[in-house]
Amino acid sequence: MRLSRYFLPILKETPGEAQVVSHQLMLRAGMIRQTAAGIYAFLPLGLRVLAKIEGIVREEMDRAGAIEVLMPTIQSADLWRQSGRYEAYGPEMLRIKDRHDREMLFSPTAEELFTVIFQNGAKSYRDLPRNLYQIQWKFRDEVRPRFGLMRGREFLMKDAYSFDLDFAAAKHSYNRMFIAYMRTFARMGLDAIPMQADTGPIGGDLSHEFIVLAPTGESDVFYDEAWLAARDTSAVDADDADALEHSISGLNTDYAATDEKRDLAAEAAAGDRLKTSKGIEVGQVFYFGDKYTKAMGVTVQGSDGQPVTPLMGSYGIGVSRLLGAIIEARHDASGIVWPDAVAPFKVALINLRVDDAACLAACEGLYAELTANGVEVLYDDRDERGGPKFATADLIGLPWQLVVGPKGIANGVVELKRRATGEKTELPMADAVARLL
Ligand code: ATP
Ligand code: MG
Ligand code: MG
Ligand code: MG
Repeated sequence: MRLSRYFLPILKETPGEAQVVSHQLMLRAGMIRQTAAGIYAFLPLGLRVLAKIEGIVREEMDRAGAIEVLMPTIQSADLWRQSGRYEAYGPEMLRIKDRHDREMLFSPTAEELFTVIFQNGAKSYRDLPRNLYQIQWKFRDEVRPRFGLMRGREFLMKDAYSFDLDFAAAKHSYNRMFIAYMRTFARMGLDAIPMQADTGPIGGDLSHEFIVLAPTGESDVFYDEAWLAARDTSAVDADDADALEHSISGLNTDYAATDEKRDLAAEAAAGDRLKTSKGIEVGQVFYFGDKYTKAMGVTVQGSDGQPVTPLMGSYGIGVSRLLGAIIEARHDASGIVWPDAVAPFKVALINLRVDDAACLAACEGLYAELTANGVEVLYDDRDERGGPKFATADLIGLPWQLVVGPKGIANGVVELKRRATGEKTELPMADAVARLL
C-alpha cells in the first residue's frame, strides 16, 4: 500500500475526549472514529488489525473443533421470552420496534438463538457433541461507554456455544475452549490470566474470565504472583479429555479470582504471593448446563431412545476490545508497538528523499519485490521530510521500518529498524527483502 493513496488520518494532538492511552493512540493513528457514544467507525488501519485479531480467534476456534456460523444481529423479542430473559436483561438491551410494531432487539449475546438453531438441526445423540460459533457485532446499551473500543456499545464479539449429552462431555467442551483461549491470547502477545468468575446474566455455576492485567482495566482482580510467569499451553492435547482436565486443574491450583469470586481461605494460603490489580476482561467461558435447553424445551433422542436435554456452555471473546487491550499492553512514548501477529502491516518502507532518482528507484524496486513476496508493506512515498515519516511509522507501530536514504543508497545499503527495541541495522539493499520474509 502506498501511503500517498491510503486513508490514514493521523492526528498530531492527543484528543481531549480520550482518557486512556489505547483510545488516544487509536484516534491519533487514524484507526477509528467515534460516530455516537460507544459506537465507532473502523478506518482502514483499524480494520486491518481487527481482521488480524479475528483471524487468530477463528484459527484457534477451528482448531478446537468449533464450527463457524453467522447469526443475525436483530432478533425477535419472542425468542428471548422463551428463556425468560427478555424482561430480565434490563436496560442494557437495545429494544427496537419494526413498522408492524413487532418487538425486536439488537443481540447483546446469543444463547437463545443458538439454542433454537441447534434444536432445529440436531435430532439424536449422534448429533452431539457440537460447538457452534460466530464472530458478530453485539450491542449493549452500557451505562458508561468509555475508553474507546474497550467499553463500546456496539462491539465485535466471538461467541461460541457447546452442546453435550452429559456433564463429563460438557466439561471437556469447556476445557477445550479454556485451552483455546490461553492459546489465542498468547498468540496476540497477551498474558491473559484465567480467573474464577461470576456468571452474571448468562447464568450457570462454572465460569472463568480471562484477564489482562492493566491499570486502566475495569475489573478488580486477585491472583497468586505465580501467574506472572509465562505459561506454555501449546503442547497440551485437547482431544484427550483426562490429560486436558489434568493440565487445566494444574493451571488452576495457582489462585486467581475476580472480586465477585474472592476466596479468602485461598488468599490466606497464597500469603505474600497474593497480588491485586486492575484488569481488562478479554474473554469469558461459562458452563450453565440445561438452563436454556430446559427453558426452551430442547431435547435429542438418546442412545436408549429416551429424550435427553443437552448441556450447554457459552464462550465469549471481546474481539474489538482486544485492540484496546493489546495497545494498553504494547506501546511506548512514541506510539503503538504491535506484536507481529496482529500488526496492520509488517513493514513501513520509508523513502527519505522522493525527489532523489536513486532513492525513488530503490524504493519502487523494494516495494515491488516485498509485495510480490507477500510481505505486507506500507510504503511512505509522500513528499515529506524524514522527521514526520519516522513519527508516523513509530505512531502506527509497524514491527519493522525499512529506511532508504541517499547516503545509504550511494553505498548500496538500507537501514532496518525494529520498532519494539529501536535496534537499527544497516544491510545491503539486496538482502533487505530476504530479512523481511
Ligand atoms: P464487562 O464485565 O466488561 O461488562 P461482560 O462480562 O459483561 O463484560 P460477557 O458477557 O462476558 O461481557 O461478553 C464476552 C466478552 O465480550 C467480554 O469478555 C468482553 O471481552 C467483551 N465485551 C463485553 N462488553 C463489552 C463492551 N461493552 N465493549 C467491548 N467489549 C465488550
Ligand atoms: Mg458487561
Ligand atoms: Mg464481566
Ligand atoms: Mg464477562
